[in-house]
Amino acid sequence: MPDIIQLLPDSVANQIAAGEVIQRPASAVKELLENAVDAGSTSIKLIVKDAGKTLIQVIDNGCGMSLTDARMCFERHATSKIKKADDLFAIRTMGFRGEALASIAAIAQVELKTRKHEDEIGTLLSIEGSEVKSQEPCSCPAGTSIAMKNLFYNVPARRNFLKSDGVELRHIIDEFQRVAISNHNIAFSFHHNNTEMFHLEPGTLRQRVVAIFGQPYNQRLVPVEEETNILTVSGFVGKPEFARKTRGEQFFFLNKRFIKNAYLHHAVQGAYEELMPADSHASYFLMMEIDPKSIDINIHPTKTEIKFEDERSVYAILRSAVKRALGQYNIAPTLDFEQEMSFEVPYRSKNAPVESPGVYINPEFNPFEQETSPKASSHGFSKSYNGYSGKATPGWEQLYDIPEVNREETEAEGQDVQHTISTDWDASAQGAAPKVTYQLHNKYILTHIKSGFMVIDQQRAHERILYERCLDTLEKQKGNSQQELFPQTIELPPADAALVKELEKEIAALGFDIREFGNNTFIIHGLPAEAPGTNGRELLEGIIEHYKTNLTELKLEKRENLARSMARNMAIRPGKPLTAQEMNGLIDELFACRMPYASPSGKPTLTTFTLDDLDRRFKR
Ligand code: ADP
Ligand code: MG
Repeated sequence: MPDIIQLLPDSVANQIAAGEVIQRPASAVKELLENAVDAGSTSIKLIVKDAGKTLIQVIDNGCGMSLTDARMCFERHATSKIKKADDLFAIRTMGFRGEALASIAAIAQVELKTRKHEDEIGTLLSIEGSEVKSQEPCSCPAGTSIAMKNLFYNVPARRNFLKSDGVELRHIIDEFQRVAISNHNIAFSFHHNNTEMFHLEPGTLRQRVVAIFGQPYNQRLVPVEEETNILTVSGFVGKPEFARKTRGEQFFFLNKRFIKNAYLHHAVQGAYEELMPADSHASYFLMMEIDPKSIDINIHPTKTEIKFEDERSVYAILRSAVKRALGQYNIAPTLDFEQEMSFEVPYRSKNAPVESPGVYINPEFNPFEQETSPKASSHGFSKSYNGYSGKATPGWEQLYDIPEVNREETEAEGQDVQHTISTDWDASAQGAAPKVTYQLHNKYILTHIKSGFMVIDQQRAHERILYERCLDTLEKQKGNSQQELFPQTIELPPADAALVKELEKEIAALGFDIREFGNNTFIIHGLPAEAPGTNGRELLEGIIEHYKTNLTELKLEKRENLARSMARNMAIRPGKPLTAQEMNGLIDELFACRMPYASPSGKPTLTTFTLDDLDRRFKR
């Protein structure tokens, strides 16, 4: 047998390694921006075409590179930032692994122009699939420009894997914002398809936040300052009264590096305890400085997670710092926290691009494919999805044997109450028997069944109903819209505005009548007919928030995600009293669903208690 092991050629090894570092255009943007920051630049320009699929270019005025360094920087593990393993514990730069440029060169066509300030002549280097194509002297401004074209041109599988321009652009905006916030003393600009999306002058953290998220933020921020020997915290948290149903802007930076940390998020959220409703979220922009020795950032090249040596102390310090800041603000809420009144910059130019909405239709898509409930089949429920013709699945009452007592009473009671849940299905009108129902703590609905009683979670049940209805509507592309008497304006952060534009068609199909007003502002003219009396702005914000979470955490397909987000935000909440008629309507509609037993996210909508269960409890 001949020997079979061989070393992979560098270009292949680099391509494999690149997968770790560069997953999508936004990862390349992050690496290039961080390199520019590390190079000591005071001004950084980002140019992107077609959400980074065609071009990503970063131009800086930093230290630049010598001819030899320009050649070296594309080698794997080539870095000027650490020399020995010990240096790993004293890292102050964003990069240190020497992998980014090698990865970028492996999967794109790269052009580097660079000149050190002290040199007269710079270097122009072209490299493609890890191979140097040309190298020549050139005259160029001091600093570095790296342009990468046709990302993944040589890895079609990865290129096909990229999402729509809208989605990829949103990831890029996220990365850009993270770097721009933590480096507020550096000037940044961001052009996408020849439109300037951001133009940020150097300034304080407050100025930067306002420049990115809009002038209203100026009034919403409470400063946080805390210095201990373990950790220094500075930055801003949002005033509790501006907390929103949506997550809003939440940023932690550790030694200027953007991090995600659920534990620390909890610390901040906890500091608001009594100050805002439990389901609200505050914004925060918090910078933490800690001795690099006491953290481990060496987990994964692109991961934003970081391990702390003493996480509990960090938690406690952070929480008390935010609490103290909010306390001070509470005592003297009118104190003017050095607001930057004179500072007014439009945070996005007027001629911002209008993304053409990309509609993705999967002809194979069947939302119920994997959702065949074993319970449903064993009870012989109709498996065919009967849409919303208003017919409850025949047979479920036989199963549960709802007694028809108190029929008249229930009907009479129901007559003068507005029927808010069931819009297209009136149980009594269709001849189905109203059931004896009881609402427990305005949260659960109790009803008899043959073997005992059934408890239905009103919120989850309604979520299931709305979810299936939304999917249905999205399929048919026609939702009913209710025009608002007083159209509401809503101003969104650029990333959210991009998302709304991307989902324009679907949102309209669901019955929203939203029109763009420019500058990330939208006017809500109409809401889905299923959402009477809801605050349109809150509803939209809530949907966007859920959509984003679902996108990153569950990687849901567009329609599925939208239906789930809509359902979650429109469903009745615990605490809502229901009339007998409403409860009946809800139960009937629930059992008209294809999958009545679980909420869209898979949690139970109902549970049953049998007489046997009760007998056992009574030790019979
Ligand atoms: P790392 O940032 O981890 O060191 P990179 O692959 O991102 O690795 O970059 C390799 C090296 O190239 C850096 O260490 C730095 O010396 C040099 N370099 C990269 N980008 C720039 C830039 N914009 N200006 C000056 N030098 C740069
Ligand atoms: Mg780097």
